[in-house]
Amino acid sequence: MKSCGVSLTTAAVAFGDEAKKMAAGKASRESEEESLSLTVEEREALGGMDSRLFGFVRLHEDGARTKTLLGKAVHCYESLILKAEGKVDSDFFCQLGHFNLLLEDYSKALSAYQRYYSLQADYWKNASFLYGLGLVYFYYNAFHWAIKAFQDVLYVDPSFCRAKEIHLRLGLMFKVNTDYKSSLKHFQLALIDCNPCTLSSAEIQFHIAHLYETQRKYHSAKEAYEQLLQMENLPAQVKATVLQQLGWMHHNMDLVGDNATKESFAIQYLQKSLEADPNSGQSWYFLGRCYSSIGKVQDAFISYRQSIDKSEASADTWCSIGVLYQQQNQPMDALQAYICAVQLDHGHAAAWMDLGTLYESCNQPQDAIKCYLNAARSKRCSNTSTLAARIKFLQNGSDSWNGGQSLSHHPVQQVYSLCLTPQKLQHLEQLRANRDNLNPAQKHQLEQLESQFVLMQQMRHKEVARGLHKSQSSCLSGPNEEQPLFSTGSAQYHQATSTGIKKSNEHLTLPSNSVPQRDADSHLSSHTATSGGQQGIIFTKESKSSKNRSLVPETSRHTGDTSNGCADVKGLTNHVHQLIADAVSSPNHGDSPDLLIADNPQLSALLIGKANDNVGTGTCDKVNSIHVAVHTKTDHSVASSPSSAISTATPSPKSTEQTSINSVTSLNSPHGGLHTVNGEGLENSQSSTKVDLPLVSHRSTSQIIPSMSVSICPSSTEVLKACRNLGKNGLSSSCILLDKCPPPRPPTSPYPPLPKDKLNPPTPSIYLENKRDAFFPPLHQFCTNPKNPVTVIRGLAGALKLDLGLFSTKTLVEANNEHIVEVRTQLLQPADENWDPTGTKKIWRCESNRSHTTIAKYAQYQASSFQESLREENEKRTQHKDHSDNESTSSENSGRRRKGPFKTIKFGTNIDLSDNKKWKLQLHELTKLPAFARVVSAGNLLSHVGHTILGMNTVQLYMKVPGSRTPGHQENNNFCSVNINIGPGDCEWFVVPEDYWGVLNDFCEKNNLNFLMSSWWPNLEDLYEANVPVYRFIQRPGDLVWINAGTVHWVQAVGWCNNIAWNVGPLTACQYKLAVERYEWNKLKSVKSPVPMVHLSWNMARNIKVSDPKLFEMIKYCLLKILKQCQTLREALVAAGKEIIWHGRTNDEPAHYCSICEVEVFNLLFVTNESNTQKTYIVHCQDCARKTSRSLENFVVLEQYKMEDLIQVYDQFTLVSDQHVSTLRWV
Ligand SMILES: [Zn+2]
Repeated sequence: MKSCGVSLTTAAVAFGDEAKKMAAGKASRESEEESLSLTVEEREALGGMDSRLFGFVRLHEDGARTKTLLGKAVHCYESLILKAEGKVDSDFFCQLGHFNLLLEDYSKALSAYQRYYSLQADYWKNASFLYGLGLVYFYYNAFHWAIKAFQDVLYVDPSFCRAKEIHLRLGLMFKVNTDYKSSLKHFQLALIDCNPCTLSSAEIQFHIAHLYETQRKYHSAKEAYEQLLQMENLPAQVKATVLQQLGWMHHNMDLVGDNATKESFAIQYLQKSLEADPNSGQSWYFLGRCYSSIGKVQDAFISYRQSIDKSEASADTWCSIGVLYQQQNQPMDALQAYICAVQLDHGHAAAWMDLGTLYESCNQPQDAIKCYLNAARSKRCSNTSTLAARIKFLQNGSDSWNGGQSLSHHPVQQVYSLCLTPQKLQHLEQLRANRDNLNPAQKHQLEQLESQFVLMQQMRHKEVARGLHKSQSSCLSGPNEEQPLFSTGSAQYHQATSTGIKKSNEHLTLPSNSVPQRDADSHLSSHTATSGGQQGIIFTKESKSSKNRSLVPETSRHTGDTSNGCADVKGLTNHVHQLIADAVSSPNHGDSPDLLIADNPQLSALLIGKANDNVGTGTCDKVNSIHVAVHTKTDHSVASSPSSAISTATPSPKSTEQTSINSVTSLNSPHGGLHTVNGEGLENSQSSTKVDLPLVSHRSTSQIIPSMSVSICPSSTEVLKACRNLGKNGLSSSCILLDKCPPPRPPTSPYPPLPKDKLNPPTPSIYLENKRDAFFPPLHQFCTNPKNPVTVIRGLAGALKLDLGLFSTKTLVEANNEHIVEVRTQLLQPADENWDPTGTKKIWRCESNRSHTTIAKYAQYQASSFQESLREENEKRTQHKDHSDNESTSSENSGRRRKGPFKTIKFGTNIDLSDNKKWKLQLHELTKLPAFARVVSAGNLLSHVGHTILGMNTVQLYMKVPGSRTPGHQENNNFCSVNINIGPGDCEWFVVPEDYWGVLNDFCEKNNLNFLMSSWWPNLEDLYEANVPVYRFIQRPGDLVWINAGTVHWVQAVGWCNNIAWNVGPLTACQYKLAVERYEWNKLKSVKSPVPMVHLSWNMARNIKVSDPKLFEMIKYCLLKILKQCQTLREALVAAGKEIIWHGRTNDEPAHYCSICEVEVFNLLFVTNESNTQKTYIVHCQDCARKTSRSLENFVVLEQYKMEDLIQVYDQFTLVSDQHVSTLRWV
């Protein structure tokens, strides 16, 4: 890989100062002896070296000197620390962590960082530390923690010099975690950044295209791939991979014309891909599949043969060859090919299925059953239930099988034994090595094994050639019409889909073995049991690991390993199950990047990180179990550095023992929880040392708005005085006067946990009888009391004589029948549960498809759904009379065993009623509500934003049929919400108090869901287990539900009904605090905040008199922060000679957001010259502007407020006494 242009010296100059001073100063403080060992020059060179150089230092070739220096430094530091008995400054550990990271000694880096973390309370201010930590976690596939660390870096230092690298890696990790929205956002953020990073922009674009493909957005994917091909100077490897993806996608999907057309497209693409990279075994394999599917058998065999010649033997290829033989009616050849496939990959479900089918077609049901059992046992088996049924059928019916064409000379066990197991190969190696010292029995064994080995080799090598030959003859005799009984097709299909994405995963995506992926897999498999390319991912991810379990590398790795290789060979040969079991339990230490990247070395070198260097030799006791445990999982991690792909050290026996039992999950668990948290911990680890991972989240409690007394607030003059002469370099947004805020964290579960009998609390409810009740002030106080997460105001519509009929479907149709309705197509789930589409297990994810229709059409659907249900009800009633009690119980039982398949329903959602002309009557009716619940009122923060935020300070309508679900969420920026059920049916609500959102966030993360962005439906059992209280109630027509600030809730329709809803921001300290906290959390998570809190805070200062000291302090504090930021930025720009152009504001001008990263941009807007000229004013934040144009030459800076005005507003905003409580200046 090429250097990204940052030389060590320049980097040292660029990053040096602080660290340099620190390291130098520290070193001089240490003992004479040690300072002798590092020269001044060395110390100076080291001073500039930290995690930011990772991926940009060459340790081989000409960088050997750097490596020596780093090694020496590590040695010195270590002995120093030892001498001081660990009592050294915490920065020492941080630096040691950096050096080890740069040396790619991850376990030691982790250990050192961990020490720094435990010693340094404000570690979060240290962006290079967080970055280094993130890289180490990333290396270990501990994505959960890597994501956290990286997000922290960007939060504390948005202009961090490796922001691009971070976005790239976040993109990759979110892709693996199936959080595609976040993934896309980060890839795009990486793409706009012109700084160097470890992937080229062509590669990042490839990932974006592949992201579309993964989401089955094939047309977008095709477009993106084709666009990439237009790119000038597209590297050959990227080109080859793009063409390969295009080819395979055309083969699998109906993107163009009829079958013949799409196959011809596919073949053309694959041929072009092979022109760009003739050595891609994968492309040859795909080409073979294409030829096979259009009946060009000979070409298919040639391609498969090429594939096997070009790359390591692949189970997929052998399986396909088997299919081809089977289609040519050559069962013996098919048999051998399948055997090869399962030999290479014991978990290859498709091959086992095909083999089973083959045995079935040859009337050997017993053998077929064995194969199906093996298939079913495979983790990658997606249709276990069908298989189980088949197995049962065969078991029952096998007596009636008659003779016929038979493979009876080769029952499963026997044929299987033709191939050598890893154990036997190992044994063979040992015997060979000791050839001269064998006893007669051993000599005999050796002979046997040797001949078996030769046989195996012959079979392998001659297979294809022979196949070609034979197939020609069998082609002459015409194709075999007889299809196997059972799903060769489907098996073939699995393979097809799997390998499609597999390829790209191997080469351009993340490692496959990580736990997050596995979670994703299980999700995906449940979602796509019967269709679609996603399945591919399932196979991909795991088949890779098993692919690596290939015989050849295993043997070579195991020479010299003297584990119980002398097991009874005969015994083994006679027991398929034994063999399989061995195979499965044998550690997959065969993982080797060379295997994966064989046909794509250059590109994969970029992506595949570490080879087997630094493997657990256990020099570092603390992290021993961890790095050993996780190491093999990480072979394919994204390019940690260019040098990484070069290393080829072999893992120690010790590490290989452990790898089989552990998983990355262990890294993801906190502290002592290591052994339990995810159930896959380190129980079997030999090290008893508990690993204390730097658990960033457990330390700092979030304090975005520190509780400070009013007197601390300096006047604006003082602030500005302090600001002068700061940040002249113009790059830092760091606070000096005001301390940096630590990154926000979700709250931990409230302590002590609630007793189980308190987990279903009664819902706070108020019954209204008349209008006076509704306007009674304590009602407002009750609703906004933080102790009441939710309030149901019963009978509100009746008490106020609201005409809810105005929102009935009939009236809506009459008023605006063509109005747009967003439709969510959902599965009709049972009661309060959420099952995967196959109904096999309860899950949190509840994604739905989005489309659009009109009110008229939805109304029609709603009505017909109602009628259909009436009809069904009647039918059921008559049926019920005919049925005996017994039968009804048995059907209930079967229902419990297995849910689904589920009916789909449509939910009409987010219907925008903001247009005052269109919805005049409706909106007017709502002004009858008491002020605190109105859409617009002086006491509603959202009325002070000054512009429309759709659905928040405007009304939205929901049209429902039974089962329509609003997934779990908190409102935008934690605002309160008002929801009125129009009826005629009921809704059921589930509500969790705000302080438990951290627990729900954890559940989402565990389920690979984005708490803020994904759709999820909590599993009530999980919540009960975690002692999370859930309020549950029915909202009847005319009831108003008040959701308090930050309350988590999810809703389902019981009957047919419409609802209306909007948000409200009561003027309370609690509301403001939660809104600001969520604003910061959104920033951390790269999610847009719909409420522009900075803009709003200034409007509040202008318009509202505040008497609550707590609320006042918070607002004042925020204003101060902004004021300081504006001043600092302004002065930095001026100092850098950048002109600031006065732009001002129009009255209703909305708040601005960065068009790239979506953070709110206040006062100083960075607008491209072009868009300034065109007056389109596309706004950027400073950081995004600098990413595309380092010294801002492509941007103009527009200013919207005079500093004097802001200062005046700040100074005039004062706490008022209680008498003025309700004085609101209303604009
Ligand atoms: Zn931005």
